[in-house]
Amino acid sequence: MFEIKENFALKNFNTFGINVKTKYFVPCSSESDITEFLNIHKNMDLPLMILGGGSNVLFTGDYDGYILHPNIKGIEIVNETNDEIEVRVGAGEDWDEFVEFCVEKSWGGVENLSLIPGNVGTCPIQNIGAYGVEVKDVVTKVEAIEIDTQKRVQYINEECEFGYRDSIFKRKLKGKLIITYVTFLLKKQPKFKLNYGNLNEQLKVLGEVNLNNIRQAVITIRESKLPKPEETGNAGSFFKNPIIKKGKADRLKEKWPEIPIYIINENLVKIPAGWLIEKAGFKSKQMGNAGVHDKQALVLINRGNATGEEIIHLARDIQKAIIILFDIELEMEVNII
Ligand SMILES: Cc1cc2nc3c(=O)[nH]c(=O)nc-3n(C[C@H](O)[C@H](O)[C@H](O)COP(=O)(O)OP(=O)(O)OC[C@H]3O[C@@H](n4cnc5c(N)ncnc54)[C@H](O)[C@@H]3O)c2cc1C
Repeated sequence: MFEIKENFALKNFNTFGINVKTKYFVPCSSESDITEFLNIHKNMDLPLMILGGGSNVLFTGDYDGYILHPNIKGIEIVNETNDEIEVRVGAGEDWDEFVEFCVEKSWGGVENLSLIPGNVGTCPIQNIGAYGVEVKDVVTKVEAIEIDTQKRVQYINEECEFGYRDSIFKRKLKGKLIITYVTFLLKKQPKFKLNYGNLNEQLKVLGEVNLNNIRQAVITIRESKLPKPEETGNAGSFFKNPIIKKGKADRLKEKWPEIPIYIINENLVKIPAGWLIEKAGFKSKQMGNAGVHDKQALVLINRGNATGEEIIHLARDIQKAIIILFDIELEMEVNII
C-alpha cells in the first residue's frame, strides 16, 4: 500500500539541492503499488512524473502534479554458471550500493561505474557510463510498467537501442514507462578495463589490480574532480560531449591546435564539452547563485540557494557562447523539469 504525501519538499530529492515542492509525492515499493496508483491517477487531471535519486534533473519551479518515486528494493540471483552470474535488481536500489555489493561478491562488470549517484532503475535510461564502461555492457533486461495500460513489459538489451548517454527510454518511450527491475550479467573472472583517463596510474598507487582496488581508484579520481552533491549541489555533467563531423573537427583544429578529438568512426568525432566551456572562459564563472565548477567546467553548481532558473540561465549563456566561438550546439544531459 502506498501513501500520497502532499506539498512535499524536494530539496533532498534532487542533487542540485533546489528548494522546490511537489503537490503530491508517491513512493511505491512494489509493482502492485505502482499499478494501483496508476489506476487512480488515470482519472485525475494533474500530470505525473517519475523521480529516482534526482541526480539528473533540474527543477525550475514547484511541480504541480504527482511525482511517483519507484522504491522497489532487492537483489535476486536469477541465473548462475561457473563464469557468470545474472542478477535482477529492484529499481529503487541505490546504484553505488549495488556496485559495492557486486565488488564485495567479486562479480565484475560495474566496478568502473563506482560512485555514480542515482538509482538502479534509472541506469539504463541514459546508459550511464564512466571510465570506458557503459551500463549497456552488462544490462540483459529492463522490466517496466506501461503508464497508459498498466501492463508489465520487458526489453532485452538489443531492444533498448542503447547509445552514448542514450536509449529508447529517453526517446520513443520517454514518459511512457516506469522501470521496475533491471537485470545484469556479471563475470566471475572479469576482464578489467583500465585504459581510460588516469585509472591505470591511480591503480599503481593501490598495488594489486583487483575489483576492490579498481573501485577505490575510480572513487579517488572522481572525488578529486567532482563536487560532492551533499556539499555543493550539482547534477554531474550538465551537457553531453558533442559529436561532430570529422571535417568540421579538422577545421576547428586549424584554429585551436590543442583541441582534444576522440574518433568515433571514419566520419564522426567526439569533443569534450568541458574543454569547449573552459576555452570559452566559463570555468569557475559565477552568475548569482549559479556557477561553473572550478575543477570541471562541464559541471554547473548551486553556490547556495540557487533557483533552477538561475542555473538554466547560466546554461543557456554557455550554449550561446559555444555556438558563437565553435559553431557547436551543446545538448543538455540533465532533464529540465
Ligand atoms: C556528482 C554526479 C556525478 C555523475 N556522474 C555521472 C557519470 O559519471 N556518468 C553518467 O552517466 N551519469 C552521471 N551522473 C548523472 C546521474 O547520476 C545518472 O544519470 C543517474 O542514472 C540518474 O539516476 P537518478 O535515479 O538520480 O535519476 P533521476 O534524476 O531521478 O531521473 C532522471 C530521469 O529518469 C526518469 N526516471 C527516473 N527513474 C525512473 C524509472 N524508474 N522509470 C522511468 N523513468 C525514470 C526521470 O523522470 C528523469 O527524467 C552524475 C550525477 C552527479 C550528481
